[in-house]
Amino acid sequence: MPVIAIDFGGTKIKAGVVENGHIQETASINAAAKQGIEKNLVQILAFIRSFLKEKHIPEDSITGIGIALPVIVSSENNTVLTQYVKYSDAKGFDFNRWFYNNWNIPLQLENDARAALIGEWQYGSGKGCSDLAILTLGTGVGSAVLTNGHLLKGKHYLAGNMAGHTIINADGVACNCGSKGCLETEVATWALPAIAKRLCKNPNSSLFKEDNLDFEMLVKAIDAGDNNAKDIFNHCINIWGVCAANLVHSFDPEKIIICGGIMKSADKILPAIQQYVDTHTWLDPGTVQVAPACQPDFATLTGLEYLINNKY
Ligand SMILES: [Zn+2]
Repeated sequence: MPVIAIDFGGTKIKAGVVENGHIQETASINAAAKQGIEKNLVQILAFIRSFLKEKHIPEDSITGIGIALPVIVSSENNTVLTQYVKYSDAKGFDFNRWFYNNWNIPLQLENDARAALIGEWQYGSGKGCSDLAILTLGTGVGSAVLTNGHLLKGKHYLAGNMAGHTIINADGVACNCGSKGCLETEVATWALPAIAKRLCKNPNSSLFKEDNLDFEMLVKAIDAGDNNAKDIFNHCINIWGVCAANLVHSFDPEKIIICGGIMKSADKILPAIQQYVDTHTWLDPGTVQVAPACQPDFATLTGLEYLINNKY
């Protein structure tokens, strides 16, 4: 049964027609996160409807809509529980009513990292496992946990979801969440320009001048022989390792699946995270595998499809 799966990222909204773990069609539009959630929903639904028409997929063949958001979500009530920097009005928005009025088919909201974990568990790197963790490393640091075959949610839907806002330095710098010293302040792409300014020893380095510094630029600078870039990159690898080791000690997974924007440099990053886990956890080296996501760009969409069709 084909469903529409929509992944609300901060800069792009990705949508796809998904059936049995296969993406039949996919497309994306630019998000207008500051315009609010409703305007974005109107825009993406109009886009999906014209896209279905163009591909000759009848609208009434679609049996559900899944939406993934980078916020804390109550998947039972289809509500957003926290205010996020982007789509700040999503908290309190009545998704059930809006979809009832605009496209009345079963709706499933989920946190984006949890949806990606389900996608990788059912159709990707985590196939056959009962205990998994996922880390989505990009603009922020997302996480989710599967324990004994069940998605970990907790009493308030925070469980396993908060790796990026685990406080790792009580005297650290301000985070975009209002707290201080969160893991994201030491490694997220949004914090990278400030991290570079803190760590870069050479005031003439081009890294100082780059307000939109990202990991791709950092890797390019390393390849060009910039030692400051190397120091910053090593710092980030260390923090990703800390994050993975903390997940191992908190949730004891078989695998930690890594996805997100940094996967373009996976060959440089994953072995280093594996080594950190091997040397900083109370398990024999290699017990927990740090594995790349099989479908880094689409696990969220296939996960949403599984959640809808299997009433998981
Ligand atoms: Zn934070």
